[in-house]
This record gives sequence, structure tokens and C-alpha cells, in this order.
Amino acid sequence: MRALRRFTVRASLPEPLQALGTLATNLRWTWHPPTQDLFASVDPEIWARSADPLRLLSDVAPERLEALAADGRFLADLRAIATDLDEYTTGPRWFQHRGADERLPAAIGYFSMEFGVTEALPNYSGGLGVLAGDHLKAASDLGVPLIAVGLLYRSGYFRQALSLDGWQVEHYPVLDPRGLPLELLTDDAGGPLLVDVAMPGERVLRAKVWKARVGRIPLLLLDSDVEENDEDLRGVTDRLYGGDQDHRIRQEILAGIGGVRAVRAYCDLTGHPAPEVFHTNEGHAGFLGLERVRELVTGEGLDFDQALAAVRAGTVFTTHTPVPAGIDRFPVDLVQHYFGDGTLLPGVNTQRVLALGAEENPGLFNMAHMGLRLAQRANGVSRLHGEVSRDMFRGLWPGFDVTEVPIRSVTNGVHGPTWAATEMSALPADLGEVTDARLWELRSTLRGRLVDEVRKRTRASWLQRGASALELGWTSSVFDPSVLTVGFARRVPTYKRLTLMLRDVERLRALLLHPERPVQLVVAGKSHPADDGGKALIQQIVRFADDAGVRHRIVFLPDYDMSMARYLYWGCDVWLNNPMRPLEACGTSGMKSALNGGLNLSIRDGWWDELYDGSNGWAIPTADGITDPTRRDDLEAAALYDLLGNQVAPLFYDRDADGVPTRWLSMVRHTLSTLGPAVQASRMVVEYVETLYAPAASSASSVVGEGFRGAKELAAYRQRLRSAWTRVRVLDSELSVDGSAVPLLGTSVDVRAHVELAGLEPSEVDVQVVLGKVGDSDELYDVVTHPMSYGADGSYRASVSLPHAGAVGYTVRVLPRHDLLATSAELGRVVLAG
Ligand SMILES: *Cc1c(COP(=O)(O)O)cnc(C)c1O
Repeated sequence: MRALRRFTVRASLPEPLQALGTLATNLRWTWHPPTQDLFASVDPEIWARSADPLRLLSDVAPERLEALAADGRFLADLRAIATDLDEYTTGPRWFQHRGADERLPAAIGYFSMEFGVTEALPNYSGGLGVLAGDHLKAASDLGVPLIAVGLLYRSGYFRQALSLDGWQVEHYPVLDPRGLPLELLTDDAGGPLLVDVAMPGERVLRAKVWKARVGRIPLLLLDSDVEENDEDLRGVTDRLYGGDQDHRIRQEILAGIGGVRAVRAYCDLTGHPAPEVFHTNEGHAGFLGLERVRELVTGEGLDFDQALAAVRAGTVFTTHTPVPAGIDRFPVDLVQHYFGDGTLLPGVNTQRVLALGAEENPGLFNMAHMGLRLAQRANGVSRLHGEVSRDMFRGLWPGFDVTEVPIRSVTNGVHGPTWAATEMSALPADLGEVTDARLWELRSTLRGRLVDEVRKRTRASWLQRGASALELGWTSSVFDPSVLTVGFARRVPTYKRLTLMLRDVERLRALLLHPERPVQLVVAGKSHPADDGGKALIQQIVRFADDAGVRHRIVFLPDYDMSMARYLYWGCDVWLNNPMRPLEACGTSGMKSALNGGLNLSIRDGWWDELYDGSNGWAIPTADGITDPTRRDDLEAAALYDLLGNQVAPLFYDRDADGVPTRWLSMVRHTLSTLGPAVQASRMVVEYVETLYAPAASSASSVVGEGFRGAKELAAYRQRLRSAWTRVRVLDSELSVDGSAVPLLGTSVDVRAHVELAGLEPSEVDVQVVLGKVGDSDELYDVVTHPMSYGADGSYRASVSLPHAGAVGYTVRVLPRHDLLATSAELGRVVLAG
């Protein structure tokens, strides 16, 4: 029989055990081993089956709970841990200890389409979501006052299985929010608190709001499955990345616009301070800025430009993709359809909305462009990705050198307490106190744990594919706990090149089956359900791994998620990553491996480009300039086999008299001590606070105060620029050199220019001299700029020293200047001489 409907009944806890409920519903347990141990002690068997406190509390026998309620030792442990959580969530932390002279935001709204906090709340598809989850956890540890906002998907992302012939099969188990660690926000009357957004045709999309507690951080998740909604609208939050463009824009409207409304309702309800800064994590959530414009237009009587100035000041936008094809774009008609009748955002001009998302293709609305135009501050997620992003979006700042494009970078990090094995975290900070023998034993324990998991999952996968238990005896001996173990797990877009390792199957086979120095390879990853190309790649791996000659040394494990990922990061000796450079924005799985002493073997892309130091792993050489992808793959695959066979494996199997690979371990130590701190999400969140959130809070307060005086001034200034700018010109300029005909490097030169200001005041512009090398096309590069000062005679002058030897050129340019601009490139306006 199939159930008509499923629902979850929560067990009632005896009075002395009430605190267990608090511990179970705050997701801090996911990164707090003492809380996990406490739950495990409630019923070790249930916990071993599924490490999920809510499930444990509903499955455990009432007699066991009664016994625990009378168990003095258990109650003392429970009290201690409950007190610890209380102190953790309410006491001062890093953020509260910052200097009082700093302008810090009272709260930050953090918007993302997915959040990967724990497998017990499967609301993510991959890296972006897990990163958002790690961001919240680190913010919680640091006391950074985030309010996180996203959607609750009824089926999360799909679960992956395999058919007998290795084709990906998707299924979508339905989640019951009442069985998840969530609490429904209710209004004063006790009913579910609903937020709504208008839909075309005088319809309304409503959503209830669930709250998860991630340590100190409230995570608000909007859920459209409410009875008052039309049937099609109930399904808006059915799946993550599941539907067509129409489905997706509805999700993004709900997340962005509904999300701001949910934050407002939450703050009203709880007295939580309102966010002064809003962080748009990737373009999907970008409509949040439009709702804030609407609030200011209808609530404060500002016009669009004034509201825009106010909103931009307090907004941070993070881009995560280095591939133009990865950017979210909607047909302009579709945006028009949802915004055009004026009910979704009353008072906000649709043409202004459309202009914010304008791109090269006039038929498309670009969410990343809107994100950048709605945010005064923006960043990519590794140094290299910052560079790539400045280049990719430079069209929004025409006339500027690529280095001046105002997109900085904050390299991603991972949450240590979540991703490091407990035993690893427990090592003394000074690794000098840890003997090689102990470190090796620990690495071997973690590898052994992975091997057990591989066997279990391989068997389960074959049973699911239709094999009989009788023919699966071999699965109990796949993998060998003493063999060099390499991991490769990630989503399967083309650029990640899942099958690069299969480029030369004979070489791969030789590595796997080497008589003295074998390698074993664990592979996992999901392909987007609509991507048959990706599924074909998975099938190639699966077919190779199905071969009885190698299946003990290579496995493809279906259903990569956080619960599997953990074992891989703990147990793999080597973490392999071979994207097509520079298409990996950052990549974080290798960071998680490094936290556990795994050595990275990776193309120098994303984070590895900046953190590889020659002795913390290996860089696979990239055939960067080669445009033929087949040749490039051949070259890079050959380099990979060479490294694995000639460097990695020999080092791993080079043992001392006690069987310990001392040279290998010195790389492990180096990785743990140098990468350990660098890859932490706490480092990342501190950087966000210091370089983005605090400056944004400061900008926001300067535009908002005294009845939005700053915003009004800035808007008026931009208005003046709009009418004057086309007439601003550098009338003439000259550069004079003293003395000898060929000036020496460092010689001082005088530059003088006259500028037509077209009615702007001298105080409203910056005039600069730009010096740089010139190539054949007279294009300036490696430029340095110097301010020119306005003199009584109406000319601009500067005295500058020549920065380069060889062919040097200069020009003069005029830029907007206003105290409330974060950089002079911000408005994308510049007038160049000539
Ligand atoms: C960390 C993580 C990712 C992201 O890994 P990348 O290296 O960025 O591809 C994806 N899925 C899960 C489950 C993760 O834990």
C-alpha cells in the first residue's frame, strides 16, 4: 500500500529531556562533536543508521527516553551542552569584540537560492549551496549578525541512482518540512505567517516561511506550498533548478522580492535589527534590490534614482561563474510579463527595471548585470576569478583599464569544524608534537573508513541496479585500505572534465593495476537532469569501472551529497581536480580534502592558482594557449598520468623501516599547517566583513541619514552628470620634459591640460594623467595614474615621474568625483583626451 499522504509526528519528550529538542533543532549539532556524541548515546543503533537528531527522537523507544530522564549522568551532560549552546548563541564573539569606532552593520541579509548546511536539510545542489552553508556557519562562529534567506524546495535537488547500463536515473523524494529541523513562523493570531508577491492576471503567490537555526543565524526559507495558492503557484518551490525559464523567474521573484518581505516580517515579529547590508549571493537572488527600491519609493517618497542610490550603497554582489553561458538570463518579454503591469513592484518604472538587466543582446535580461548595477560593491570568489570577472564584465565600465573594473575578490573558504574529521581537529596546533607514526595511523584510519563506505555503497548501488546479492560477494573486497586513494567528486558540467582520466584507458589501467604502486580511484558526481551530455560522461566512467579487471580499484558512487562527501574528504590521500582553466571560479572540495591532510593534484585554477606553493601538492600543467580542446585534453591528461605514475605514487610508496612514508607525510604536514588556516570559511567571512560588509554599512549610513540626504545628493549628482557628461572634454594637454632629449626612467615631467567641464564644478570631477607602456596599436597598458590639480589659471597640472623605460605614452582623463562613490570607476563614466 502507498500512503495517501505522509506526515511527521514529533515525539514528546519527558520534561527533564526538553533541552534535547533545543539541541536537535539548532543545526549547530552538525559541527559540534559533543552534541553528536550526546545524541549517539541516546540510541547508538538508531544514530548509526541515520545521524539525524529529529529522526532519532521520533524513533527512539519511549522507555529509553524515560530511562534517560532518570539518568543523572546523561542529564548532567545534557545540561552542560545546552548551557554551552546557550552561551554560544547569545555571548559576545569576534564581531562583538571589534572596535567601537568601526561602523559595523546591525544585521546583514544574505540571499542565496540554495543552502547546504547538512544532509538533514537537503536544500542544495552542489558547491554554491555548500558554500552558502559554510558562510552561515562561519558567520555564526564569529558572531556576524546574518539573516539568511532562500527557498525551501519540496524535493530538494534530485537523488541520483544508476541504471544497469550506467545511465543516471533521477528521483525526487518529497520532503515533509515538519520532519525537518525547521520551525514555521506564525503571525500574532497563531496562523502561518504568509508573505506574498503579485503575479500577472491579478493573481497572488503566497509563501509561508520556515526558519532553520544555524547556530546564531536564522535561515528563512520560503515555501509556496500553501492551500490559498493556485495549483500552479503551489509548485513554485517544488524543485531546485528543476523547471523552465518561467518556473525559474517565479522562484527568483519569490526569493528576492518575497525574501525581503520575509525579512521585514521576521524583524517585526522578533525585534531582530533590520539589515543595513544585503548580500546577493550570485545573480539569482538579485530581485531583492528592486524590492528595496520599491520600499523606498512607496514608503519614503524617494524617486527611483534616489532609491537606487540608497539601495546600492548597502548592497554587496558576489559572482560565482567565470563562464558567460553560466549566467542567468531571461527573455526580456518574460521579465516584462511579470513586472510590466506594475502590481509586483508598485511605483517602480518597468523600463528602469529592464535597463538594470540590459546586456549585449537586447532580447535578454541579465541577472548578473542587474546584480552589479544594484550593488556598490562586488566580488569574485578567488583571485584568478576576480581577474576573469573584471575582464568578463568590463563592458559595463567602458573606457577603463581592466584592472580598474570595480570587482574585487574574496577567495572562498570551507567551514573547518564541518569538514575536518574530529580526529584531525583534535591534533595539537603545533604539528611538531605529532609523530609521523601517529599522523600516518590517523591518515590510515580515515582511509580505512572510506574504504568501508565505498564497499557499502558499491554493494547498495549494484543491488539497486538490479544485481542479486549472490553475485555481489566481490564488493566486500573492492578497494584496499593500504592503497594510494585518489578522489574525484563534483558536479558534471563539461568544463570539469569528469572523463579526462579516461583519455588513455590503457595508461589509466596500468596505474590502477601497478604491481607495486597501485592507485585506487573513487569517482562521484551528479549531472544536471537536462544534461544528457553529462550523463553520457558518467556512463563512460561507470562502464569502465564495471569491468571485472579493474572494478576493485575504481568505483563510481552514485548520489554524491554532503553525507558521502565527508568520507571522501576524510579518506582520500589525493584530491584530483582537472577543470579547463580558468573556468573553475574557486572550487572548494580540494580545500576540504586539505583540511584532512589530503594532497591536491590539480590544474592551477580557482583557489589552487593562488594557494599552490610547490610543496603542498601538485599542479597539473595546463595547455592554456591551445584552442583545440581534443589536443588540450590529450596534453593535460598525459601530464596527469605522468604526475600520478612518476611522482605521486612513488612518493606515497616510499616507506621507512616502519612502513611510514616520511616524505609524503612532510607534504601532509605542510598542507595542514599552511593551507589549514588559509582555506577556512572564517578567514573568508572576516574578509567579507572587513572589505565589504563594514564599508557597505558605512556607505549605507551616509546615504540614509537626515532623511536620505546623501542618497538625494548622489542622485542629483548623477542626474547632473547625465546631462553634462557628453559635453565634458579634454580641450588640450601637453607633457614637457626638462633637459635631455631622451628622458630617464624616474625623470619628473610636467603635464598640463585644459578641460571643458560643461557646467560641472571642478570639485565634481577628478582629472588624472595616465601613463603606461604603449604597444604598436598605441594602446596603453601597465598604467599608473596621477591626480592633476586645478589651478587658479583654470588649467590642470601634475608633475609625475616616468614609470617605465622604453616606449611610454600618456593620456589625460576626466572622472566623476563624489564622496559617496566607492571608486571613481563606479559609475562607468570616463572622458579620455583625444
Ligand atoms: C564542497 C562540495 C561541493 C563543491 O565542490 P567543488 O570543488 O566546488 O566542485 C559540491 N558538493 C558537495 C556535496 C560538497 O561538499
